[in-house]
Amino acid sequence: MTAPMLELRDVARAFPVRDALGRSKGAVRAVDGVSLSVPRGSVLAIVGESGCGKSTLGRLALRLIEPDSGAILFEGEDLRSLSPAALRARRRDMQLIFQDPFASLDPRMTVEQAVAEPLRLHGIVPRSGERDRVAELLSRVGLRPELARRWPHEFSGGQRQRIAIARALASGPKLIVGDEPVSALDVSVQAQVINLLQDLIRELGLTFVLISHDLGVVRHIADRVAVMYLGRIVEEGPAAEVFGNPKHPYTRALLAAVPGQGHTRGAAALLEGDVPSPINPPSGCRFRTRCPHAEAICAAEIPPLADHGPKGDHIAACHLQDRLPPAAARHERDAGGERLKRLQAFFSDQRTGE
Ligand code: SF4
Repeated sequence: MTAPMLELRDVARAFPVRDALGRSKGAVRAVDGVSLSVPRGSVLAIVGESGCGKSTLGRLALRLIEPDSGAILFEGEDLRSLSPAALRARRRDMQLIFQDPFASLDPRMTVEQAVAEPLRLHGIVPRSGERDRVAELLSRVGLRPELARRWPHEFSGGQRQRIAIARALASGPKLIVGDEPVSALDVSVQAQVINLLQDLIRELGLTFVLISHDLGVVRHIADRVAVMYLGRIVEEGPAAEVFGNPKHPYTRALLAAVPGQGHTRGAAALLEGDVPSPINPPSGCRFRTRCPHAEAICAAEIPPLADHGPKGDHIAACHLQDRLPPAAARHERDAGGERLKRLQAFFSDQRTGE
């Protein structure tokens, strides 16, 4: 059987926290025992509120930061076992697209220099072929090649993100992690960039990990969705299943909070309170302080991720999974489906040039 493009096994990473005087205040367990598998050519979205650990998870997946424990396998090969030289060689297969297109490009480099840098770093084309390859890459992301001599400040946010995507594609990666790649852009531009990413994923056979808090974007592009809360996965499954039949109360609350639809105020209101401190998370189920269904067992025991889908590929971590009120689930499901249909229609309407 072919190994997944990316596999995380029980990965954990904590960051020490200090006060203003440098004294230890404990540690934030940003990622706490996460296991995920991303098949080749698929799109996995990791969703959750700010601070849930999803960006840390993306960087761990690319080994841009080191895990405290657990294994990270790329095409079946444990990245932690690679020598620095072997890891450097592997880097061309894995790229990251950042959130902020204004910060991700070096203002001292022209577009051509920025896009050519990975070509040179990995020895992908001879110097004499760089200009043509850069022109190809710019065309591929919908930019005119004659813009290559310009500077990043001469471009809009959407154009800069296209340049960043061209740069990410330059090394011929197999896996791209996009960390909120469109959240800094205007909504109409977001749709164009997401459509571009979707086309690239399909045409180049890329494996893509999309980190996003925006469920409208995720629904449009993802094959599978993993929902994170305070460093842990609380639900994971096929996108249609997670969106159409969310199992975990937190996923339901996230879906209810998709803006502009307003059908499920009760569930959405759960997300108005602060997320508990990740330094001292609640015992048992970490969502229990915001969950309307919490019972004594929720404080006492960590709920395991267990199968709930018809095919056994939709997992959620909730003690009361089989007892959650069906009426609420149906209400939220129907509202979520309507919302997402409208969001998809919006994205389809935006398949025009910027
Ligand atoms: Fe809510 Fe308990 Fe389920 Fe956690 S385990 S989501 S607190 S019902």
